[in-house]
Amino acid sequence: MSYRQLAVEAPGMKVRLWQHLQWLEPLLCAHKSVPGCVVLALCMLPFLLLFWGMHAWALMDPDAGRFYRSEWLWPVQMGLSASIVLLAAIALFFWPRYRSEQARPLLVLVTTTTLFLTFSGLTMAYGHKDAPLAIVQLGLLLLARGLFTTRQLLPALLLTVMVVLAGEIMIATGRLDYAPLLSQPIHTGAPLAGWWDIWVRVIYNIAVLLFSGMLFFLFWIMDRRQGQLETLARMDTLTGLFNRSTFMSHLEEECRKQIRTQRPASVLMCDIDHFKKINDGHGHAAGDAVLVHVGELLRTATRWPVDVPGRLGGEEFAVLLPETDVASAQVVAERIARQLREHVFDIDGKQFAVTISIGIAETRDGNGERALRLADERLYQAKHGGRDRVVGD
Ligand code: GH3
Ligand code: MG
Ligand code: MG
Repeated sequence: MSYRQLAVEAPGMKVRLWQHLQWLEPLLCAHKSVPGCVVLALCMLPFLLLFWGMHAWALMDPDAGRFYRSEWLWPVQMGLSASIVLLAAIALFFWPRYRSEQARPLLVLVTTTTLFLTFSGLTMAYGHKDAPLAIVQLGLLLLARGLFTTRQLLPALLLTVMVVLAGEIMIATGRLDYAPLLSQPIHTGAPLAGWWDIWVRVIYNIAVLLFSGMLFFLFWIMDRRQGQLETLARMDTLTGLFNRSTFMSHLEEECRKQIRTQRPASVLMCDIDHFKKINDGHGHAAGDAVLVHVGELLRTATRWPVDVPGRLGGEEFAVLLPETDVASAQVVAERIARQLREHVFDIDGKQFAVTISIGIAETRDGNGERALRLADERLYQAKHGGRDRVVGD
């Protein structure tokens, strides 16, 4: 039965399945240090415990132990125990801080390096032909790249590649046996012919490199697409300014800060005068060019990116000026109005000028919505007063 059929036949099932998986979504998108490390450690610990249990059994029971070389079994078990203790400590210590947003590069470095090196060490100890550890390693890589960015993983990856390379060189030059932990390669009971050994190693290494390269490339594309979509959702595509909803969240955030700091902030509400006439007289493309110019002007005439200009819709713009009282905001608004008034638009051989009306309001009590409403009322006073002017109080 396909998933689609399942969803049709049991409508509640689709919702429930999604609800169970939903906790993973922010983890895989946000690349946060603490939850990422806790999940990675908890997912990989069972595999390590499985090997630890097998080795413990081999150390206690001579019959099971004959598959292993005793001189390697103890050191491997010691290393494995150290990794397990470290990862379990990370999982236990950070479990109560699971919702932490804090970036902890050192924690990511320790967790990923421990896991990558432990699994590479196990693969080397068992020999990659004798244990299906390559699949676990690819899974670990997939999970790690989902939880963290390539940049976060890079130090652990480089270190692991260097260690694996050193191991391969040592095996190739005869300084280290293939599968040194095993008393004899398990699958045939006899060592492989030299040429076949090299052939398997070439295929193995090329496959691991190729598949992990593809994996990282795929994640890179997905991250880029996600970034592009987020930008599209936050910005106004014509002017490159923030759109209404982003502007409003900046205003809300500034007001939240204001409750603590008690510093004033001002908002400018700006509306291009007789914009309909520009569209009607010079064409829609000319109207768009004017909007683009005003967007650029709002960026250059203010302290970008401290001040926050946004396009609220149509030919209406707003600027949030943090830590600015109404008198200073008046200076900024006058500058914007003057620079636009003095600019001569030259579109398709036709020259014309454009003016703007601006209303200003100051907020001190963290009520941004009220300031925006007041600025809007003052904008309309500016319109009724004859346009091309600034009304502050
Ligand atoms: P006022 O001085 O009173 O503000 O008059 P106005 O003509 O500027 O105001 P009105 O609200 O009557 O007209 C706004 C016009 O803006 C109408 C609409 O077609 C145009 N408009 C809205 N969005 C865009 C756009 O993205 N591009 C262009 N070219 N025009 C737009
Ligand atoms: Mg207008
Ligand atoms: Mg308007």
